[in-house]
Amino acid sequence: MISQQTHPSPGRKPATGMAAALARNREFAAATGHEGAVVLPNLRLFVITCLDPRVDPARVLDLGLGDAIVVRNVGGRVTPEVIDDVAFISQIAEGAIPDGPLFEVAVIHHTQCGAGALADDGFRRRYAARTGSEESLLRERAILDPAATAKADVARLRSAASISARVRVSGHVYDVSTGLVEPVVDP
Ligand SMILES: [Zn+2]
Repeated sequence: MISQQTHPSPGRKPATGMAAALARNREFAAATGHEGAVVLPNLRLFVITCLDPRVDPARVLDLGLGDAIVVRNVGGRVTPEVIDDVAFISQIAEGAIPDGPLFEVAVIHHTQCGAGALADDGFRRRYAARTGSEESLLRERAILDPAATAKADVARLRSAASISARVRVSGHVYDVSTGLVEPVVDP
């Protein structure tokens, strides 16, 4: 049984964190925003992008609920875990779509990405120490040239044996100063 306040106590403002977001959720549910959403995404689109809040694909690409699958991590990099996620959705989609294209994976990297910090020797060493990560692998995850890293990650997905050949892959760069997403690798 869920028990929670839907209104803040007098004198207390839920200005940040989940308390603030829950108030918005109550409005979303009351407006029936959740109804009609489907599991197989409407746009047959799987977006991989950065967790930077400026890059939220729901806003940047005007995605509604159920329009796309979205995976976000630091930089929007194609890690082994992300490849496994695409393989998982490939397998689900193969069961639902007997032949033809399954869906498109769009890798979207962006300008002014904080993942550039991984190119800084001091920052990278401290992060490797605190996470127990391999420093050389972290260096490869840095984003300094988003077009180059988007192309590299498209190649990584295309060469992954676990991903169906019926999955198309494209690469893009989002410019945080213009608001425009520009393709750098066609599907
Ligand atoms: Zn970023």
